[in-house]
Amino acid sequence: MRRLVWVAGLLAMMAAVPGVAWSQEKLAVVATFSILGDLTQRIGGDHVQVLTLVGPNGDAHVFQPGPKESAALGKASVLIANGLGFEPWLHRLEESSGFKGKLLVATEGITPLAGAEEHEGEEEEHEGEEAHEEHHDHGGTDPHAFQNLSNALVYVTNIAKGLSEAAPAHAADFKLNADKLSAEIAALDAQLKADFAAIPQERRRVLTSHDAFQYFGRAYGIEFISVQGVSTEAEASAEDLAKIVRQARDGHLSAIFLENMSDPRLAETVAQESGIRVGGELYADALSDPTGPAPDYLSLVRYNAKQLLAAMQ
Ligand SMILES: [Zn+2]
Repeated sequence: MRRLVWVAGLLAMMAAVPGVAWSQEKLAVVATFSILGDLTQRIGGDHVQVLTLVGPNGDAHVFQPGPKESAALGKASVLIANGLGFEPWLHRLEESSGFKGKLLVATEGITPLAGAEEHEGEEEEHEGEEAHEEHHDHGGTDPHAFQNLSNALVYVTNIAKGLSEAAPAHAADFKLNADKLSAEIAALDAQLKADFAAIPQERRRVLTSHDAFQYFGRAYGIEFISVQGVSTEAEASAEDLAKIVRQARDGHLSAIFLENMSDPRLAETVAQESGIRVGGELYADALSDPTGPAPDYLSLVRYNAKQLLAAMQ
């Protein structure tokens, strides 16, 4: 009886904390952004409760976690992050939350691509930062590894391994789910390799808002030009913009694409000034909401590929 009262009191307390109420029966997992949240849910199935910090159409580059996120993470067992500098706010959130669980970096083992060259003056900007932030990556590597399906297979392996370590009793289920998901990822990858190979190389050149598709481009031989760098924080200079408009006018681009989570204005400006048509909207760093065309990772890749293929025909 006393235990029941205690549990009721605890539930009342949890309800008082705004945000997530963690289930006692499931492994409490925080995923930093929607794509990781989806992969984690697929692998964890009924054994996990997943809280995604940066939701559909959200921008992880400039996310600002608040007390709600901190409180939820403080009680979680596993934190799954992309790494490679994708979540510059993560270390501070981890510290403020008192998180005692397991941090799982989904890109571990991936060969990262280099980011765009750093802008002059960036060193000075970061000089004043505290020493504990030094392991953060400020633009040396491109964090968008999830845009290559081959890398997604590594994400799946890492997530399944991490969940299995945190909840060994369910390891067999995690492996089963991970194997099924991996098979779907590999099948889509094979199909897209064939689809893009059928497009003449000179048609495989498009422009996007921020530099999120280098991994995708590497996988299928597509050249992506962007008006911003690998983070949406970076701003394109007038000189960059003029150069891109020139490239576009020279007839080297099949289309210009907007993104679901970036400011469309720069890309729209290039479209207007170059006369190149807007091919649609790509899902860059976030899923769509459940009613949109990219509510899960595989739909996202499939949808982006379909849009690109249509523009390049
Ligand atoms: Zn990005």
